Amino acid sequence: MNEHSNFETDAVRAQQERTLYREHSVPLYLTSSFVFEDAEQARALFADEVSGNIYTRFSNPNTNELINKLCLLEGTEDGIATASGMAAMYISMASLLKSGDHVLASRSVFGSTHQILTVIFPKFGISHTYADIADARESWEQKIQPNTRMIFVETPSNPALDIIDLEWLGALARKKGIILNVDNCFATPYLQNPSKWGAHLVTHSATKFIDGQGRVIGGAVLGTKELIKEVRFFARHTGPSMSPFNAWILSKSLETLAVRMDRHCENALGLAKHLEAHPDVLLVKYPFLPSHPQHALAKKQMKRGGGVVTFEIKGGIDKGRTFLNSLKMISHSANLGDTRTIATHPASTTHSKLSDAERLAVGITPGLIRISVGLEDIEDILQDVDQAIAGSR
Ligand SMILES: *Cc1c(COP(=O)(O)O)cnc(C)c1O
Repeated sequence: MNEHSNFETDAVRAQQERTLYREHSVPLYLTSSFVFEDAEQARALFADEVSGNIYTRFSNPNTNELINKLCLLEGTEDGIATASGMAAMYISMASLLKSGDHVLASRSVFGSTHQILTVIFPKFGISHTYADIADARESWEQKIQPNTRMIFVETPSNPALDIIDLEWLGALARKKGIILNVDNCFATPYLQNPSKWGAHLVTHSATKFIDGQGRVIGGAVLGTKELIKEVRFFARHTGPSMSPFNAWILSKSLETLAVRMDRHCENALGLAKHLEAHPDVLLVKYPFLPSHPQHALAKKQMKRGGGVVTFEIKGGIDKGRTFLNSLKMISHSANLGDTRTIATHPASTTHSKLSDAERLAVGITPGLIRISVGLEDIEDILQDVDQAIAGSR
């Protein structure tokens, strides 16, 4: 549960200092570098004796504003803005792991995170083990090896909407002296703050609900000062930095995160309940539906259920394809977290690189449909879903 009482105020008011032009809205700082006042300042800046902007690959007023705001909203000490969510996932791991290290990850992770763990990291001698949400807690603990340096999880997961107990995992990570890294993309800082439960790193794809309007790609790694220092060193020298333009857009987007998320959640719960009562629907998953296997846990650690609903129509893959082809208003696209409702077929798109067995292990059945519920009138969303289920064109 998010207990940040000034969330909305920080989201709206945290901003860069006003310039001599007395602007009300923060300007866009499109500059590659910054001018030194004198030789001594240049030396001191490079020596890290004083803080300040040098070059936009390192920092920029717009990315600084975004990170300061995200830290306030997540309750973290420091952070780094990245060019994409995947850049955030990658550097949050690559900067802190070395050859011989091991990662314990939940099997339910984003498709590209799975590729990093299974294809890219093995080239550098970094191994992983997957644990399943359904596994007993002792089994997670047993999978921790002497060389396990990080636990990486996504909750709610994409697209299975599995929920992991952050309080328990935070305690386990502390007990074992392991870094807990949580991809908080689906919940956003408004619905859930993993650092309050002991996460050392909180990673985001800002492309989704943080932008919220399907315009820009971005990400962030947030966490303790000590860890972010290493992440920053890695980012500064490998260059996955966010453009000031995207940071400017994303900081503005955060001003409306709370009101947008409230409506996303309200519409998503409305759709989930509607689908659950629909005779042609086999199963529906939504964290705040009592039928969700981890409903109590979702209620404990999330403020509301989030903006994504998954379901399966009776008749499997063929009926699912007819559904996608029959939609009139709802977009058929691979993104999520947009003002516009989007339907996706994970098995043939976002998670197509996984084998059938790997997909089934993370709850992606062939006919599963993921709906990112937008901000349209709920009646119009329900009407489009119903007519598409009926298969009318
Ligand atoms: C989309 C997504 C990512 C990747 O983010 P990009 O901004 O597309 O690079 C990572 N994790 C989750 C849970 C996502 O949904």
